[in-house]
Amino acid sequence: MTAYRDTLLFIDGQWRAATGGRTLPVINPATAKEIGTVAHASREDLDAALAAAGRGFAAWKNTPAFERGKLMRKAAAILRERADEVAVLMTLENGKPLAQSKMEIAGAADVIDWFAGEGQRTYGQVIPSRAPDVLQFTLKQPVGPVAAFTPWNFPLNQVVRKLSAALAAGCSIIVKAPEETPASPAELIRAFADAGVPAGVVGLVYGVPAEISEYLIPHPVIRKISFTGSTPIGKQLAALAGLHMKRATMELGGHAPVIVAGDADLDLAVPQIATHKFRNAGQVCVSPTRFLVHEDLHAAFTARFTELAAKIKVGDGMDPATEMGPLSNERRIPALEALITDAVDKGARLTTGGRRIGNEGWFFEPTVLADVPLSARIMNEEPFGPVAVINKFATLDEAIHEANRLPFGLAAYAYTTDTATATRLGNEVEAGMTTINHLGLALPEVPFGGMKDSGHGTEGGSEAIEAYLETRFVTRKG
Ligand code: NAD
Repeated sequence: MTAYRDTLLFIDGQWRAATGGRTLPVINPATAKEIGTVAHASREDLDAALAAAGRGFAAWKNTPAFERGKLMRKAAAILRERADEVAVLMTLENGKPLAQSKMEIAGAADVIDWFAGEGQRTYGQVIPSRAPDVLQFTLKQPVGPVAAFTPWNFPLNQVVRKLSAALAAGCSIIVKAPEETPASPAELIRAFADAGVPAGVVGLVYGVPAEISEYLIPHPVIRKISFTGSTPIGKQLAALAGLHMKRATMELGGHAPVIVAGDADLDLAVPQIATHKFRNAGQVCVSPTRFLVHEDLHAAFTARFTELAAKIKVGDGMDPATEMGPLSNERRIPALEALITDAVDKGARLTTGGRRIGNEGWFFEPTVLADVPLSARIMNEEPFGPVAVINKFATLDEAIHEANRLPFGLAAYAYTTDTATATRLGNEVEAGMTTINHLGLALPEVPFGGMKDSGHGTEGGSEAIEAYLETRFVTRKG
């Protein structure tokens, strides 16, 4: 079996310990035991990473897009070759079942390939001029060195969208990857380094997130930031970016509604959406959270969903029989317990789960709450865990109103066999992404992003690379 390994910083093409030798512990969430360490960057290390990113940008922006694409495809191939080994690192540090780690790595390689192609299609425009001897046109040029901040729930996937879009556009990037799950994203960076991406184009640092973001975002070398994480932190970082006139992409929290119309096919809906709810122990920004079920189907939906949730095999992600791993952080346990207790105190029905499992590792029962009042905290705050809320509605207007009540607007789900209902939900539910009668989100070629407090910008689809490009206008006479 792959042994877990300590994670170093990657600065100016070199893997190195932090100056001063500081490290942070890495814990396996299935055992709560320390399995390794991650280097904690000093200010000197950040300065070295910034200087390297400046030099790396100068070299990379002048590397033809065609060559950049070739190196990126090579990195994708290396990652695929190493997938089994990287998956073990990911499961040991994050807790998710090994099969889910492997899927994440395969998906990350596809993202790299897709953006490698996009880099070759950053077309400007020739704009019809008002005089025969004037040529006016736009150029798409890379915005400059990027600082990216990514969370622990999808250690590779959260990095790869930012890294691939930046590199395809011709930007260099410093990634501040998650301290909780450092080894698997380091392997993503290693795939690019081993593919031959020049020194300074990609940097990798870890440390105290706030200290790093407060230093990198205002720094003159950095021209763009991209953050994935909670809405409160996203607002702080977007404000800092605004203060220093840095472009920003924000992929923040959600509280996804699932509208199950009175005509929905429950044989399709229940197994599909229940499996999706408990994937990655619900620690997913697009996780389905508020199930809004037509009153005629509510009892049947709740009973069937509860039965499936109660049967989920929770355990160590390294055990092939495990369907749901532990929570990735100890702090999620009291957070979930408080949300569930509050809901029950306010009159919700707990139909299954609700408690921590055992006291070794950070396991939590798949949990279902029904008939939860709007005043409960869980109806307003992102649970970010294996908890589903199943409420009922009478009219579609009511369901849409509830779906749009919160300031979040990331993902939305719906099940209906009526085309007019599907059209209305697609138009009227305020979400960056809506998927109806199937699970169709998060492919590299489709938009991935939110609206309202869930952030702005997209990390997928044909618009994603725009975030890393400047549009420059040139007009020439004669
Ligand atoms: P948190 O808000 O403390 O941290 C979320 C992420 O942001 C972490 O990766 C953390 O390292 C990073 N972060 C925190 N402060 C930062 C700063 N000042 N500068 C740069 N990065 C910073 O929350 P948490 O306890 O780690 O996770 C729980 C909450 O985070 C959830 O409720 C969820 O809303 C959110 N979250 C969202 C995603 C997502 O995919 N959108 C992923 C992980 C966590």
